[in-house]
Amino acid sequence: MRYPIVLFDIDGTLLDTSGTGIRALNRMVLELFGLKDAFEGYSFAGRTDLGIIRDAFQRNFQRHYTPEELDTCLGTYLRYLEEELSRPGHKVKLLPGIPDTLGPLRDAGVHLGLATGNLRQGAALKLKAAGIDQYFAFGGFGSDHEDRALLTALAAQRGREHAGLHDLPGQSVLVIGDSPLDIKAAHGAGLHVLSVCTGWNGPEELGSLGPEHLLVDLSNARALLDILGA
Ligand SMILES: [Mg+2]
Repeated sequence: MRYPIVLFDIDGTLLDTSGTGIRALNRMVLELFGLKDAFEGYSFAGRTDLGIIRDAFQRNFQRHYTPEELDTCLGTYLRYLEEELSRPGHKVKLLPGIPDTLGPLRDAGVHLGLATGNLRQGAALKLKAAGIDQYFAFGGFGSDHEDRALLTALAAQRGREHAGLHDLPGQSVLVIGDSPLDIKAAHGAGLHVLSVCTGWNGPEELGSLGPEHLLVDLSNARALLDILGA
């Protein structure tokens, strides 16, 4: 198999929470700092949660957060995220091909993990709300590193340990993501990347950034299995 380990981004790749994460962030900065529109004009795609909080402090206070402030921010954000996701009538939208293609991948012996800017707990809340948490056994998270390339490298390392493939080279680990920053992070970690156009960026823009593979979405399980060599 060409890629025995696959690392999925979450937002825009597996699911769409319809802005739930952004609402939780906005409620967090409103409660803690009285700030409205703290993220006006800010692009969240591909950012890590720690990076988003760092940027919010720089934009609004022109300084870095303290460790205590970070703890308070993360705790408050997770509380609001859970509340928003469990709101009556709120539904997390699965993107095309999810979850239908995940079963065949798993059955073909592909080890499925995550490479996401979400905090580990935030990722678990979103995947559980979408009913797909059972597919992913390991990952690298926004709570591991603010730098997406570092958390992606860590996800690959955890995947190798999980799969017992200790010497698997980076070119045999595939990252699947929707944003330009997924491509940059995967390449920064020495991994290959499959870009999907289910987020904010189209095929021309993503294709110009040099992903090894590009699909409009993940609805064609056969196309995905062909790329994986499974
Ligand atoms: Mg994404």
